[in-house]
Amino acid sequence: LKLENISPEEMAEVERSVLMASLDQIKAWARSNSLWPMTFGLACCAIEMMASSSAHYDLDRYGTFYRNSPRQSDVMIVSGTVTKKMAPILRRLYDQMAEPKWVIAMGSCATAGGPYVKSYSVVKGVDQIVPVDVYIPGCPPNPAALIYGINKLKEKIRYEAKTGKKVI
Ligand code: SF4
Repeated sequence: LKLENISPEEMAEVERSVLMASLDQIKAWARSNSLWPMTFGLACCAIEMMASSSAHYDLDRYGTFYRNSPRQSDVMIVSGTVTKKMAPILRRLYDQMAEPKWVIAMGSCATAGGPYVKSYSVVKGVDQIVPVDVYIPGCPPNPAALIYGINKLKEKIRYEAKTGKKVI
């Protein structure tokens, strides 16, 4: 069967019934549906993060399981106030995560210092230490907001694989 012998109707039928994607897109699809976050609970936002895996919100149903080791994780969820003393440790743990990896800044403290923005001891946003992919506003954001943020990260991973463009 030669390609030029296929009618437009037959080609349309083939396009409808065959899934076509690049290997990068398939990998991104698999990765995005199996994100394993490293918990980085630093303050009150961490309580909401913990609640996201409770029976009520059931984050596990999205294939997202919390890990306690950077070597088993591909997402760092920074939830809470990042102090200047903690910053080098946070960076070290980030460096120990294998590529590809992503970061979610959960709450106004992790995003920009939050209520402690004028404190001498607080980092004014974790993006000064590690690159951040998704920011979740709130003080604190509730578990539903965190799940929304994780779903946004999934969209970002798939979009970048599809278009080859980095979303900042
Ligand atoms: Fe606590 Fe609000 Fe900071 Fe979250 S954003 S760690 S709730 S002060």
